[in-house]
Amino acid sequence: MVGRPNVGKSTLTNSLIGEKIAIMSDRPQTTRNKIMCIMNTDNAQIMFLDTPGIHKPQHKLGEYMVRTAESTLQEVDVVLFVVDATEKRGAGEDYILNLLQKVKTPVILVVNKIDKLADKQKLFQIMEGYNKLYKFAAIVPVSALNDSEFPGLVQEITKHL
Ligand code: GDP
Ligand code: MG
Repeated sequence: MVGRPNVGKSTLTNSLIGEKIAIMSDRPQTTRNKIMCIMNTDNAQIMFLDTPGIHKPQHKLGEYMVRTAESTLQEVDVVLFVVDATEKRGAGEDYILNLLQKVKTPVILVVNKIDKLADKQKLFQIMEGYNKLYKFAAIVPVSALNDSEFPGLVQEITKHL
């Protein structure tokens, strides 16, 4: 799960922790990645990882951290790129998109906070905008705050396991 600070990664993680979640961890499992949660579905077990350092603009990161971020993106089955539907794409998003261009891993764009969008036409515009920048495997709108289940997201993730 990648995305600049405040887009709702922690909220999404917490909402994913419904009945189906087995583990929530706050400790780094390795020096590189942190398991955010593990979800058991009927036919799969999905481990969500956070990579400390991946969310910051590049000039603040050492070369080692950038390489670490890139290799994590390469090693996972699928990347969830979380963005805020109510804010313009910024440096944080561009930095991550740039990293994503360097790897072949499928990327699902998760457009979060759709509950805050009064005008649903805006959602379409955001999706169109991102769609022009990158060939996403899927684009899934969610409200991490209000939704308690994410069947569409889980279905898209499962395609890449
Ligand atoms: P993170 O930095 O990416 O982990 O973002 P957080 O999960 O900490 O969320 C940042 C802020 O956005 C918090 O105040 C959340 O309550 C809020 N937030 C997250 N998801 C949603 C959502 O779907 N809808 C709304 N309205 N607020 C959200
Ligand atoms: Mg967080």
